Amino acid sequence: MTIISSTPLLEAARSGGYCIGAFNVHTLEMLQAVVEAAEETQSPLIIQSTVGTVKHLGPDYIAKAAKVASERSSIPIALHLDHCSDFNIIMQCIRAGYSSVMIDASHEAFDVNVAMTKKVVEAANAVGINVEAELGRVGGVEDDIVVDEQHALLADPDECARFVELTGVHTLAPAIGTAHGIYKGEPNIDFERIRNIASKVSVPLVLHGGSGIPDEQVRRCVAEGMSKMNVATELRIVFSNAIKEVFDQNPEENDPRKYMVPAKQALKKAAIEKMRLCGSFGKAKDYYQ
Ligand SMILES: [Zn+2]
Repeated sequence: MTIISSTPLLEAARSGGYCIGAFNVHTLEMLQAVVEAAEETQSPLIIQSTVGTVKHLGPDYIAKAAKVASERSSIPIALHLDHCSDFNIIMQCIRAGYSSVMIDASHEAFDVNVAMTKKVVEAANAVGINVEAELGRVGGVEDDIVVDEQHALLADPDECARFVELTGVHTLAPAIGTAHGIYKGEPNIDFERIRNIASKVSVPLVLHGGSGIPDEQVRRCVAEGMSKMNVATELRIVFSNAIKEVFDQNPEENDPRKYMVPAKQALKKAAIEKMRLCGSFGKAKDYYQ
């Protein structure tokens, strides 16, 4: 297939009551691993990169690699830019081949968030790109954005409905108690708030901070109305730990294939587990003509 917009993927997940795993990748092997996981389980897939990774690799390298992966694969794949507050970077990514972008102006006042999101939605609509925005503030560390607990704010359901109406945004990430990074204790997820927002808002909802949420709670988030789950930190840890293990056993190892292959395998396995929790196994078949 080719890279497609995440809009049909997320709309289908929303009406089908399942969720789509959106995985942050930083290297070619990480990208290949999540595609293999999706292929093996016949799950629709969203590949993501942060602004930091876009700057590190270049949006064209990432988009071209994702394009090759999707051409070799039979499953529907979207390529998404995670948390970005810079209009120019968003446009560069769209131009490079991204099919979905997040404008994150959640740190701004409501009216400014509306205006910034609307501007991106207008530009994206002209070329059929999905736009995700955030309301409230997800706590934790994402790339170089740090939000401490005190400044993490939960999204208000009525405000969510108003925000979607005013901006025309295609996908909404409401802060509901999850955090970026790894949780110190149990996450404090407001499930009722998810249900409430899902009942008031007409677009798919996104769960940020999908690393380290207990399985039962992920399932409940999906059941209450989350259609996309972002996972970054947990996969990065699995990938890095597999590399560390190789060097623990053989500190002299100097062939990248010798540590990248086990890292890729470990990441693939972890991504499959997330897809299982999302309930996305077998859903790719809906896209075959
Ligand atoms: Zn996030």
